[in-house]
Amino acid sequence: MTEVSKPKVGIFGLTGCAGCQLNILNIEDHLLEILGLVDITTWVMAKAENSDGPWDIAFVEGSVAKASEIERVKKIREKSKILVAIGACATHGGLPGIRNFRDMEKMKQTVYGDQTDHLDVIEIKPVSHYVDVDAELPGCPMNKNDFINAVKALAVGKTPPVANYSVCYECRIRENACLLNEGKFCMGPVTQAGCDALCPTHGATCEGCRGPVAQVNWGAEYKILKDLGATKEMILRKFLKYCPSSSDMDEFKELEI
Ligand code: SF4
Ligand code: SF4
Repeated sequence: MTEVSKPKVGIFGLTGCAGCQLNILNIEDHLLEILGLVDITTWVMAKAENSDGPWDIAFVEGSVAKASEIERVKKIREKSKILVAIGACATHGGLPGIRNFRDMEKMKQTVYGDQTDHLDVIEIKPVSHYVDVDAELPGCPMNKNDFINAVKALAVGKTPPVANYSVCYECRIRENACLLNEGKFCMGPVTQAGCDALCPTHGATCEGCRGPVAQVNWGAEYKILKDLGATKEMILRKFLKYCPSSSDMDEFKELEI
C-alpha cells in the first residue's frame, strides 16, 4: 500500500517570549496524535536538524520587531502554502508592542548606551501587517487546544475553528460564579473566547489577552463594564497591552459614551 505523505509543518519564532512554542511542547498527551497527522520538518526550538522548506503549513510566533524579521516572515510566506499566526504577539503585536508607546531612541540608549548602531528595531507590527495570514490563534500564550484543533483541521484541508463569541459565554458553560457580580473588572464580556474561560475559572479576572471579540456590541457590553466603574481608558489600556496594533478597537474609540 502506498503511504500518503503527511503535510510538512514549520514552526517559527519572531520577537516574543517563546511561550507559545513552549505551549506546543506541552501538548504531551496529544503529541503522538499530532505527529501522526503532520510531519514537523522545521522547529529550531525542538529539533537539531531542520529543513529549509517548503512547508504546507507554517506556524509563526512573535511580532515583527526588526527590519530583518520583515524579510524573514516574507521568506516563510513564500515557501508556505498556509501561514498561521500563533499568539498575541503574532496576531496583534502583543506585549513587545508596549515599546510602540515609548520614545524608541530613548529606549535604545537606556539599554545599550551609545552603542545602538547595530540595532535594526522598528515599530512593532503583527505578522498580518507584512504578509497574508490564513488563520490566527490569539492569546498570550496561544491556547494549546487551539493549536491541536488547528492542526487537525488544516491536516484535512479545513479552516481552523474560530470562537466568535466572548469569554463570558465559555464562563457560563463552565458554571463559574460571575466575577462581575463580585464587582471585579473582568474583560470577559468584550474578549474573544477560545481559552475555555481559563482565568475566571481559577478566580482571576480576564485580562483580554485574546483581543476583542469580533462584531462585539460595544455599546451594550461597555455598559455592563461601565456600570462597574470601568472607563473607556481602562478597557483600552487592557487591550492595548496585548493588541497594540489592532484596528479592532477603532469603533470603540469612536463611541460617544
Ligand atoms: S503571545 Fe505571549 S506567550 Fe506568546 S510569544 Fe508573545 S508574549 Fe510570549
Ligand atoms: S480568560 Fe482572558 S486573559 Fe485569561 S486566557 Fe482567556 S482571554 Fe486570556
